[in-house]
Amino acid sequence: METAFISLGSNLDHPIKHILDAFSQIEESDKIIVSKISSLYKTIPVGPQNQNDYINAVVVIQTSLTPINLLSTLQGIEKKHKRKRSIKWGPRSLDLDILMFGRLILKTRNLTIPHPELVNREFVLIPLLEVTNQDFTITKYGKISRYI
Ligand code: ADP
Ligand code: MG
Repeated sequence: METAFISLGSNLDHPIKHILDAFSQIEESDKIIVSKISSLYKTIPVGPQNQNDYINAVVVIQTSLTPINLLSTLQGIEKKHKRKRSIKWGPRSLDLDILMFGRLILKTRNLTIPHPELVNREFVLIPLLEVTNQDFTITKYGKISRYI
């Protein structure tokens, strides 16, 4: 089992419902145990400004999936929410990203771990801090307290 951190974001239809449903759908995999869930945060959009506010959250999981299989599990959940991939940083019904996977550092065409934007995004750092602590080390980047 490995500990992984997943970020959730939504700004379409009923964002809170998308996020709450996603919590249950992540838990439904028999290879994932959800061990911690952050509060829901309402945040203003990064990128195009003519879109709704977002709801963001982070969950901590224990998983026996490989990183690639975890990614496809999360993409399967995104699909159930009718996620359409359109404009970069544009509106989305559900975005699920792998922030960290144990202490793994990985860079492939489809998957970069830790998530390359993690330390630049307050809407991820704040819920991540809530489920960890000031001394938490983001693999490759160092202590979370350096970034918030
Ligand atoms: P973003 O999350 O950057 O707004 P998308 O959700 O559309 O954009 O993701 C685009 C691609 O990012 C996915 O097809 C996936 O292969 C890739 N990706 C790379 N690293 C990660 C990661 N750590 N977590 C989730 N997706 C990732
Ligand atoms: Mg994504």
